[in-house]
Amino acid sequence: MSGQAYDSNNIFGKILRGEIPCHRVYEDEDTLAFMDVMPQSPGHLLVVPKAPSRNILDADPAVLSKVIPVVQKLARAAKEAFEADGITVIQFNEPAAGQTVYHLHFHVVPRYEGQPLKPHSGQMENNDVLAANAEKIIGELGN
Ligand code: 5GP
Repeated sequence: MSGQAYDSNNIFGKILRGEIPCHRVYEDEDTLAFMDVMPQSPGHLLVVPKAPSRNILDADPAVLSKVIPVVQKLARAAKEAFEADGITVIQFNEPAAGQTVYHLHFHVVPRYEGQPLKPHSGQMENNDVLAANAEKIIGELGN
């Protein structure tokens, strides 16, 4: 396969190995989901397959088939928990497309009528706000 190889020394690799913390909202054998520290909208979370791949271009289709149902589950939960009008799912591949962390992930972003998104990788959110938002989603998943 052409393109750059996966480098496990990326932020999400470190989160998956427990080397740096995250506000976790969901985990199963194949997938971890946690709050984005620079949310583009309240409740912005990331769904990350545990299997290593740089992005969708080098991912194993078997991994994609497991992660997408989790993206759907979290999109539904985030829409309810944040009383959103809609959900944007975003996934960037390579720097030219806006990717900044090189472990495959899907953004799940609550949206509201007439409200534009905040910038991608913009301002860091307060830790307590992220923790409270994670609890909202966890609570919704429990319903
Ligand atoms: P990408 O541009 O690769 O699609 O998005 C990477 C995302 O990861 C950005 O939305 C950014 O805010 C988020 N991010 C960057 N560093 C961290 C971190 O240390 N922890 C968490 N939870 N999110 C991060």
